[in-house]
Amino acid sequence: MIITDVFFAIKCDRCEKVHDEIWANEEDNAVETAKENDWLCTVPGKHYCPNCYTVNDLDEIKINPPFPLAVKNIKGFVLSQIGNTPDLSEFDDRFEISFNENKKMFDFQENYINSFENVFIERFNGNFPKANKVVITIKN
Ligand SMILES: [Zn+2]
Repeated sequence: MIITDVFFAIKCDRCEKVHDEIWANEEDNAVETAKENDWLCTVPGKHYCPNCYTVNDLDEIKINPPFPLAVKNIKGFVLSQIGNTPDLSEFDDRFEISFNENKKMFDFQENYINSFENVFIERFNGNFPKANKVVITIKN
């Protein structure tokens, strides 16, 4: 017998990370669990993971600026066109998108990534059978 059920999870409106603690069977439970893990759930209709907002000494909440378009586009491109699930890291002056290059990128794929400004592609040789690691740096 096959049955269908619905589960709820919280996804960050800024970085799109999914709160992976629990897929709750009720929407309210998903929000409560995220709050317990320092997610910001007080902005109506929005949810932010702990990496995407700051609280200053006066308890004022500031949501970090949205991701640059290049970050969103390149991350989506790696996922949908290159077929790798990229890791995204955020630093004060740059973003890094990294993935294992199981199959060498085509020139047109690399050209697409290089078409964005302030983007640099680096390759780190993995010792066989480990794949090369590609790190795409996007400077702010
Ligand atoms: Zn986030």
